[in-house]
Amino acid sequence: DEREPLEEVRPQAPVKPMTATEVKVNVSIPEAANRAAATGADGVGLLRIEHMILSLGQTPARFIEENGEDAYVSELIDGVRTVADEFYPRPVRVRTLDAPTDEFRELEGGANEPLEHNPMLGYRGIRRSLDRPDVFAYELEAFARLFDMGYDNLEIMLPLVNDAEDVYRAKRELEKAGIDPGKRKWGVMIETPASALCVEEMAEAGIDFASFGTNDLTQYTLAVDRNNENVADRFDELHPAVLRLIADVIETCREHDVATSICGQAGSKPEMAQFLVNEGVSSISANIDAVRDVQHEVKRVEQKLLLDSVR
Ligand code: PEP
Ligand code: MG
Repeated sequence: DEREPLEEVRPQAPVKPMTATEVKVNVSIPEAANRAAATGADGVGLLRIEHMILSLGQTPARFIEENGEDAYVSELIDGVRTVADEFYPRPVRVRTLDAPTDEFRELEGGANEPLEHNPMLGYRGIRRSLDRPDVFAYELEAFARLFDMGYDNLEIMLPLVNDAEDVYRAKRELEKAGIDPGKRKWGVMIETPASALCVEEMAEAGIDFASFGTNDLTQYTLAVDRNNENVADRFDELHPAVLRLIADVIETCREHDVATSICGQAGSKPEMAQFLVNEGVSSISANIDAVRDVQHEVKRVEQKLLLDSVR
């Protein structure tokens, strides 16, 4: 085998401000992995796989029907691997599929998708995955194969969970796919008020982390459609109700040794970074263009906390 050991060909992260709170980056398309890694982020706080799947132009069911399961798994492996490789050994948190039915309906094969009045309140995220464990299994197979290839920097994140039952059911699917939840890092997104209120029971299920998806958490807490311009001025991720849920989750998670992070758009806002660092969040994941500013804001707030503590 003449291949170079992977470590030797991986780029080194550039110099960046040292902070106790990790600052990570969100990645939505594998093509952005290089640019994302160049920010010097401490890892990927959210790797979306929607684009890898939607860009096939067909629903997963149709794609598999025409190309076979292996082709589907390979597509996922290729996309995730590009990012896991670029960041290795920095952690990459890959999220299982979370596209609403209206987005699937636009694809070839999408006519079979349910027609929903409220796709955002409907068949998406973990709900869909648990309803179709046979399809979910292909995603998990891709992750399992990546672990086998040595990408031990991968972490698995479950979207739109509501409670411990969702988490235990998903955990069972990980196990069935040969992924040991005691050995690999896995966790949930906090996107619904229910998930925030049930985080203690979810912690007992053995999750390693809980990550605030503030796009949805804000939408569902305030009952403000994140895509409705008529109420866009009411979409406030820094609303006291949202912040209260976040603060409570951070406190509960700390008691249970569960890491906390944010991967919604608000993670790119300095005001949110300030709030989260003061509350003791473990990491913040920002958009590529915002990583630098968040790194500096985190550093500033941490230094202030330190000075205040010795005064
Ligand atoms: C969120 O809800 O904040 C999130 C990161 O997920 P998405 O934007 O993909 O719903
Ligand atoms: Mg979301």
